[in-house]
Amino acid sequence: MKALKEALAQAQQDVLDQEAARALYEQADLPTLGQLAHAARLRHNPEPVVTYAVDRNINYTNVCVSRCAFCAFCRDRDHPEAYVMDRETLEKKCDETLALGGTHILYQGGLHPGLDLWWHEERVRFMRQKGLHVHGFSPPEIVFLAERSGLSIAGVLERLVRAGLGSIPGGGAEILSDRVRQQISPRKASTSQWLEVMETAHGLGLKTTATMMFGHVETVEDRLLHLFAVRKLQEKTEGFTAFIPWPYQPGPGIVRAGPTGGAAYLRMLALSRLVLHNVPHVQASWVTQGAAIGQVALHFGADDLGSTMIEENVVAAAGVSHRLSEAQMVHLIESAGFRARQRDVLYRPVSCDPEVQGSC
Ligand code: SF4
Repeated sequence: MKALKEALAQAQQDVLDQEAARALYEQADLPTLGQLAHAARLRHNPEPVVTYAVDRNINYTNVCVSRCAFCAFCRDRDHPEAYVMDRETLEKKCDETLALGGTHILYQGGLHPGLDLWWHEERVRFMRQKGLHVHGFSPPEIVFLAERSGLSIAGVLERLVRAGLGSIPGGGAEILSDRVRQQISPRKASTSQWLEVMETAHGLGLKTTATMMFGHVETVEDRLLHLFAVRKLQEKTEGFTAFIPWPYQPGPGIVRAGPTGGAAYLRMLALSRLVLHNVPHVQASWVTQGAAIGQVALHFGADDLGSTMIEENVVAAAGVSHRLSEAQMVHLIESAGFRARQRDVLYRPVSCDPEVQGSC
């Protein structure tokens, strides 16, 4: 109980160390964790506003040589469902996104050995010319392109930035522990490579998010290592805009380690908010949790509800398909007691909020 008392005190002062974080996670009850996380959220983002984005996921290919054990999305090159998105389809998706008020594209895909850096640069340039911000290429894609092109990570990022890349999504982190990565994604970027891509991107002025997929083969200690690795890099670079934890959605080929229902998700979300006191925003994952838990998450440390996701393929491939329109998302936020505000990928307001000075 002494450890819990000390942990509660540390959490209230935004100085949670790893031992105290563990005590909190294992011993605090769910309502206490929620109260602490919501108080931390109000210290970081005091306005009663929950943000959301209007964007579209574009997955340019599902061909992937990584074959991660948990992935229901990837296909071999000769599989009948394998695809590489053509220019016409890309253009149609960009035009639809703009017509719906979308500001950016979350652009990611499998590790396809036939698509070189030049191909990707051309696609990024095309989306930028359409007027969309490109939030693209998670660290494993950057590492793969570096290996294939013979360039350094910085070299690949510089070329993509010159083509118009605006920021990087934090995908492919799963759990930042090589022991875990060896079990679930041994052919994908290692922990140090994931962190190197993010540090290099931040050094080039790119903002990024960070994610965590939990609830599979990892231990609580692995989750804590992940959170503290993100916090440590953020102390150095201040380049992460948001943290997005979500539970593993069971697909083929992986044994689940523990419960990932609503309560388990909310515990992890709250702990994320408390450990990552230096990351500005924490995002609720309604895509994996559904609208109801997504709404509760707004009282467990989250200040952002993610995006309307005009299109989502990766989670849907695992059989989970929650959908929300922009109006439904606004309703969800407002009925939870907050004002809803559309943001862009860098968390800037898309339109003026009459109640917030300086938002125009
Ligand atoms: S998770 Fe990503 S890297 Fe892993 S197999 Fe699926 S598409 Fe490839």
